Amino acid sequence: MSLERIDKWLEQLNQVGQTSSPGLYRLAYTTQEQQAMDIFRRLCEKEDMDVREDAAGNLIARREGTAPLPAVAIGSHLDTVYAGGRYDGTLGVLAGLEVIHRLNQKNIYTKHPLEIIVFRAEESSRFGMATIGSKLMSGAVSLERLAALTDKDGVTFPEAVEEAGYSFDSLIEAKRPGTDIKTFMELHIEQGPLLEKNRLPVGIATGIAAPFRLRVNVEGKASHSGTTSMDIRKDALTCASELILGLEAEARKEKENNTVATVGRIDSHPGAMNVIPGHCQFDVDIRSTDTASRRQVYSQFKKQVQKVEKARGLKVTMETISEETPVPLHESIQECFASTCGRLNLTPFFMPSGAGHDVMNMARKWPAGLLFVPSVDGLSHHPDEFTALTDMIAGVDVLEHSVRSLANEGHQKAFLEVKS
Ligand SMILES: [Zn+2]
Repeated sequence: MSLERIDKWLEQLNQVGQTSSPGLYRLAYTTQEQQAMDIFRRLCEKEDMDVREDAAGNLIARREGTAPLPAVAIGSHLDTVYAGGRYDGTLGVLAGLEVIHRLNQKNIYTKHPLEIIVFRAEESSRFGMATIGSKLMSGAVSLERLAALTDKDGVTFPEAVEEAGYSFDSLIEAKRPGTDIKTFMELHIEQGPLLEKNRLPVGIATGIAAPFRLRVNVEGKASHSGTTSMDIRKDALTCASELILGLEAEARKEKENNTVATVGRIDSHPGAMNVIPGHCQFDVDIRSTDTASRRQVYSQFKKQVQKVEKARGLKVTMETISEETPVPLHESIQECFASTCGRLNLTPFFMPSGAGHDVMNMARKWPAGLLFVPSVDGLSHHPDEFTALTDMIAGVDVLEHSVRSLANEGHQKAFLEVKS
């Protein structure tokens, strides 16, 4: 029954944002995101939840507890990237709804209130900043920073927010006091290949890797590709290539710390077939849950820059674009997930999260946890994103029993029955 229900809900929500091309288009603060939120609101109301929207448009659906205590909250997002998939974010909020549905069916009440939170604007696709809704809820972003954002059509973030019916100046009122929430949990698709490779339905995130980002400029000398002999060239692109390969080698040495390094953008000037590139700019993204390991890759890269610069006689400069702190996830929640896995005869599998999620902002303020379910082929942010229903159910099972335990359910008997 669970299978059919979740499948039906997914179908309902993913009607929104379809176009003539493949994939879903529910960009942050667009009518499509709003429509999906409206559908989800109705689904929550059917489960007898009280639903409100905060000043940023985050949706908060609440099921009261039997005592006036902080809430045990579950959340994720309904916005997508351009040509996004059916599960990223959407599955997380539906998992919360399924937990509530099951508790309603079983007539189980908890001491702590339960909440499902649908965060606005999780994806950075439209405004270049990710997890805006959860940043606002946890108080991790200023209006000043948000005011500077624009989308590709030149619409500013304040304009988009006002157009969607919210007041830009009031956005900060979405910040919630620490006493509102006891714990926060997110269920998300893995967006990587690890669970599938290990044939496991559920993963427990230990922390969220944070990127250290650099912009590198290589100053060489543009000259004729036919008349400049190889020994006197100052080729900025071959210099950049050597540095990029060096970076890759350094990151590989840190494999056991799950550190990764990527150059995903490179510009070469003047960009003509018959001219030796005189200038090159590329961006470096080094990520890890381990700050020391990330630092190690960076310092080795810096040494290489000096070496290559000298050997090739070019000028290389670097500037730091951002240096974010990795977010550890709360051990008590990891343990709760692990013992729940044990009770459900699932192998507890701990892994870092390479990607950012709303939970990373919530975790800076509240004890928080993140559960992964497999992504087929590790594919995500893509129309072919897929997670098998049976894996989703395993994830929801872990979530349900963790919620019941953390929110102090009244009917302990039902919980013990799971053991047998
Ligand atoms: Zn997501």
